[in-house]
Amino acid sequence: MKPASLEAYRDVAPPGTVEFLYRLSEKVQGRSFLHVNSTHQGGGVAEILMRLVPLLNDIGVKTSWEILEGTLEFFRVTKAFHNALQGEEQVITEDMYETFLECNRHNAARLPLEADLVMIHDPQPAALVLARKVPGTWVWRCHIDASRPQRRVWTFLRRFVERYDAAVFSLPKFAQRLAIPQYLIYPSIDPLSDKNRELSDSEVAGILSRLGVPQDKPILLQVSRFDRFKDPVSVINAYRMVKRRNECRLVLAGGGAADDPEGKVVLAEVREAAGRDPDIHVLELPPDAHLEINALQRAATVVLQKSTREGFGLTVAEAMWKGKPVIGGTAGGITVQIVYDLTGYTVNSVEGAAYRIRYLLNNPEAATRIGRIAREHVRRNFLITRHLADYLTLLHVWADGGGRCKNPGPTPW
Ligand code: UDP
Repeated sequence: MKPASLEAYRDVAPPGTVEFLYRLSEKVQGRSFLHVNSTHQGGGVAEILMRLVPLLNDIGVKTSWEILEGTLEFFRVTKAFHNALQGEEQVITEDMYETFLECNRHNAARLPLEADLVMIHDPQPAALVLARKVPGTWVWRCHIDASRPQRRVWTFLRRFVERYDAAVFSLPKFAQRLAIPQYLIYPSIDPLSDKNRELSDSEVAGILSRLGVPQDKPILLQVSRFDRFKDPVSVINAYRMVKRRNECRLVLAGGGAADDPEGKVVLAEVREAAGRDPDIHVLELPPDAHLEINALQRAATVVLQKSTREGFGLTVAEAMWKGKPVIGGTAGGITVQIVYDLTGYTVNSVEGAAYRIRYLLNNPEAATRIGRIAREHVRRNFLITRHLADYLTLLHVWADGGGRCKNPGPTPW
């Protein structure tokens, strides 16, 4: 899909947004901005960069995006880091630390790491900072919930993080004790991407029929990588409780991310939990199934994101944007997107999820009201245009004075 230009957002972003962005972009014309992450598709980070990089170029910032090249072993190690940083106990050996460093060294030698602002996303490429060249500014962008990490892994990672000029987190509660400035920038969704753009009822019906999901009864949906932190088995258990009284189908749709080797194991667990129930649809989707996810979210009556740990949880904003009531786990960014009983429901148990699903199925007017407010909450806070403004401000502040600037830029703390 052709990337949209800023002009295309006039009708969808809050009034005045496009003019504001043009004005802000005047301050950073011709600046260079490099992003590095570890996968070009699958997961929220790639999802955002795919849309933000072309838009930044469209308004005059020379933006590029490089992908870390890693072996399967490296991604096993970084998945263990990821789990440990999100608070799960893991065994990390000296060899694993060495695998991590070796991969970062290899990539430091092959990637063009020069720009006015270099933004390194997440832990996988964090050690690239050892190869930094003056005078560019380096920022570490952390998308995960590392607020209660396994200490040993955080101590290891922190050595690299503190070599950056600043760190950016997705939520205030993810902030760390660090000797560098920290910024808060919420992630975002693109309302004009295939994942989120308007679809007609007939397009939705055609896609659901191709996916083998009948629209004969209300659809409960969770879209996620097959990852234990997304808690798909609890979603099946909640559906079973609901199903005793309410007719419905459950769709669990997801695929793997290239940097997540655990997905197959979790998918097998999900299939086993689903058993032979013809009303449970476990859909393994390719990474570019954006229209399919869009159609599923539009066809759903209730959307779930019952994560136990979450970075931000973009799937929540995606469903809210489509006017859907979302029931989410009380985790990570789900808690800033879902304002209880206003834009959705946060829950802490399978029973709580089942209770709220039944409430929404039995009270369609409440579901409609919540969905309408949810969409406006996303329009104001979680669209790509707001994200673009935050990154332009960061670029302006750091590229024009390297943090010595008096203007504090995006919310520091
Ligand atoms: N996604 C996708 N295909 C899948 C599963 C997820 O395209 O099979 C997308 C989903 O629509 C969302 C992103 O990947 O845009 C997931 O972001 P989120 O923040 O919810 O979770 P993460 O995977 O980054 O933990």
